[in-house]
Amino acid sequence: MQTHAPVAVIGAGTMGNGIAHVLAQFGHAVTLVDVDAQRLAAAVKTIGANLDRQVKKGLLAEEARAQTLDRIATATSLDAAAAALLAVEAVPETLALKLPIFARLDEVLAPEAILASNTSSISITVLAAHTRRPDRFIGMHFMNPVPVMKLVEVIRGLATSDETTSQVMELARALEKTPVEVNDFPGFVANRVLMPMINEAVFCLMEGVATEEAIDTVMKLGMNHPMGPLALADLIGLDTCLSIMEVLQRDLGDDKYRPCPLLRKYVAAGRLGRKTGRGFYEY
Ligand code: NAD
Repeated sequence: MQTHAPVAVIGAGTMGNGIAHVLAQFGHAVTLVDVDAQRLAAAVKTIGANLDRQVKKGLLAEEARAQTLDRIATATSLDAAAAALLAVEAVPETLALKLPIFARLDEVLAPEAILASNTSSISITVLAAHTRRPDRFIGMHFMNPVPVMKLVEVIRGLATSDETTSQVMELARALEKTPVEVNDFPGFVANRVLMPMINEAVFCLMEGVATEEAIDTVMKLGMNHPMGPLALADLIGLDTCLSIMEVLQRDLGDDKYRPCPLLRKYVAAGRLGRKTGRGFYEY
């Protein structure tokens, strides 16, 4: 994909604004689409603030800041994405929300354009099967915060072509990310490995093996993890952790992925982590 190829990002939330930021920073004309005009305005503000931080740290030239912002257009209709050669979807993690978006993108984008989803756990094969271009459908799983984190998990659906995969791997490298190719199985690699670890940490807490602080300290100092699993769960959101464990248990059909009852209890109580001011810790 050429450096200046027009692209679209659908959903201007936590992930969408970061994905738009990085694509624009590396030269793409980005159309950022969201149903909520306030979210679009907030996203542009967030991108501006994150660019400021990059300039202050000496990671980005002052003039590149303005150029990056100039490359981002916002819209509330998917029709505005028509010229894009790649659309990356980052709307909430619900199949019923994602399917009609891909159906519309499939109609308005050129047949050669690539459709990508930033989903954390929904099957790429299933999403692709609802379009007329399953060979040009792929997962691009960016990590939060997108401008900082180097990994892009590139997920091949059953029908994703070699050409689509290599185009997307190349694009990720052009964004100075490190793409890793994985196949479409529940949780891919990132969440298949991370979430059971977090879930096991919650079991340790529930069974009184150790306190929150003790569990996190063991994993930080003993395994050299930058954050303990419980603090990380608070950052991700306990509701998100729970729903990913449910996907692993259901789709892999194995009770070794059963969510810890204490995780369920916290979610039921509205202790979702940082976003609600309380999870395993208070904020
Ligand atoms: P978010 O809730 O922060 O943002 C979603 C945005 O989508 C909102 O601005 C919302 O207004 C918009 N939206 C809702 N319906 C829409 C529609 N029909 N058309 C256009 N826009 C619509 O969500 P997020 O945390 O950015 O997550 C987005 C996706 O990225 C999810 O699939 C999630 O699993 C995945 N993901 C999230 C993280 C993370 O750490 N947050 C990490 C990796 C992947």
